[in-house]
Amino acid sequence: MYVAQSQRLLYTSNMVSGGRHPKKPIADALKSVARDGLMVVEIHRGHRWGMLRCTVCGADLALHSTPRVPEDTARRVARFDVKHRHQPEEGQ
Ligand SMILES: [Zn+2]
Repeated sequence: MYVAQSQRLLYTSNMVSGGRHPKKPIADALKSVARDGLMVVEIHRGHRWGMLRCTVCGADLALHSTPRVPEDTARRVARFDVKHRHQPEEGQ
C-alpha cells in the first residue's frame, strides 16, 4: 500500500511537466526552437514523452522522457528545426 502510494506520487510529479521536458538539455532545445510551424506534442505514454511536430509538412521527431544521451536528442531537435524551416518562396 505504501509503495503504491509513493509510486503514484512520483508518477504525478512526473506528469506536471507543464510542457517542459524533464531533461534540461532537451527542454532548452525545445525552448530555443519554439516558433510558428513547430509544435511540441506531449503524449506521456511509456518511455515516450512526446514529439516535436512540423505543422507545415506533418513530420515529427519522437522525444523520450529519459533518453540515454539527452544532448543527442537536443541536437536532433536543433537539426529538425533547421530542416523544417519551410521558407515561403517569395519573389520568384
Ligand atoms: Zn516540415
